[in-house]
Amino acid sequence: MEFKNFETLAIRTQMEQTSQREHSAPIYMNSGFTFNDAEHARALFSNEVEGNIYTRYSNPNNNEFIEKLCLMEGAEDGMSMASGMAAMFTSIAAFVSAGDHIVASRSVFGSTHQILTQLLPKWGISHTYVDIDNPEGFEEAIQENTKMIFIETPSNPAIDLLDIEYLGKLADKHGIILNVDNCFATPYVQNPLKLGAHIVTHSATKFIDGQGRTIAGAVLGSKELIEQVRFMARHTGPALSPFNGWILSKSLETLAVRMERHCENALALAQFLEEREEVEFVKYPFLPSHPQYELAKKQMRAGGGLTTFEVKGGIEAGRKFLNALKMCSFTANLGDTRTICAHPASTTHSKLTEEERLQVGITPGLIRISAGLEHIEDIKADIAQALEVSQLEVVEKVK
Ligand SMILES: *Cc1c(COP(=O)(O)O)cnc(C)c1O
Repeated sequence: MEFKNFETLAIRTQMEQTSQREHSAPIYMNSGFTFNDAEHARALFSNEVEGNIYTRYSNPNNNEFIEKLCLMEGAEDGMSMASGMAAMFTSIAAFVSAGDHIVASRSVFGSTHQILTQLLPKWGISHTYVDIDNPEGFEEAIQENTKMIFIETPSNPAIDLLDIEYLGKLADKHGIILNVDNCFATPYVQNPLKLGAHIVTHSATKFIDGQGRTIAGAVLGSKELIEQVRFMARHTGPALSPFNGWILSKSLETLAVRMERHCENALALAQFLEEREEVEFVKYPFLPSHPQYELAKKQMRAGGGLTTFEVKGGIEAGRKFLNALKMCSFTANLGDTRTICAHPASTTHSKLTEEERLQVGITPGLIRISAGLEHIEDIKADIAQALEVSQLEVVEKVK
């Protein structure tokens, strides 16, 4: 029987049952697989038949995870990776050679920024950054030797959006690849390949696992493009542990229900923050006040699990807000059952100058919230009391 619906695909896509007749998939925690005979081995190695050879190449748990993710994103093929960064690096490196050029949104994840600015130049690969509020800049930045456009939408931590359909067409016009890091949205909220992107990359560490248990990633796209990613991954070795593949395949079964609640809580929080006098502005894709609300409605199924706001009083007020939180976690991660608050100006982006921070939308009092799955009233109550403290002149640590 064939299924088309997201939830059913996530739950009913499963590896073949073994002779033990297990209901839920077992873990294949092994490195190698045997051959039936010399002919079978030859056919496997020359890609004439499908089958597992060695876990660096493929493994039943990783295959199940990636097969599901492909169905959920609308991808022909994919490759699981040991981390989101292994996915980002391999999805770029597989398609560029010395002398090539990449156009990227300036608002990319910190380690992606290090790959573009510190590592790729060692092999003669250059890049041009385009500010997220200047979408026309992408076309202007494309050169003769440009091979890829790399973006994230919604952006981190400013929650600005880029038009995937527009950039997909632009990439087609120039015969280059549009690579979208879809980690913030997840396949439940947004499917870049269906909007015209060529490669989709994920850090599965965030909402896909959703419970802060593991590091993993994935690269998805057409058979033809993934063939190049697979060649690079098989021979350079960023293979996912089968144990993590098993965890993540289970996680995908609940992605839809979890994302529904993450999005519902994030929207409720954004609406609540808009009413607070301590707050300068709130950004959430599905709030009518978001400057790209129409685009959000066009390319996203819901607003996502992250919202961001500016607390009045700048860096100092941002610090006070975080110190005053009693329930919400203070960590740099996101996409967890637990609500997480982050203050980029004093933590992840503190080494940048104020001007560099403003270029990527990080205002001094910007707080990013990754809405968790706790009861919304408890999340609101904690944030409300921390907002009150953020405006006090002298804060006494409440034990
Ligand atoms: C976390 C993250 C990554 C990196 O993923 P890891 O699993 O930590 O390697 C890449 N892109 C985005 C947008 C992320 O949030």
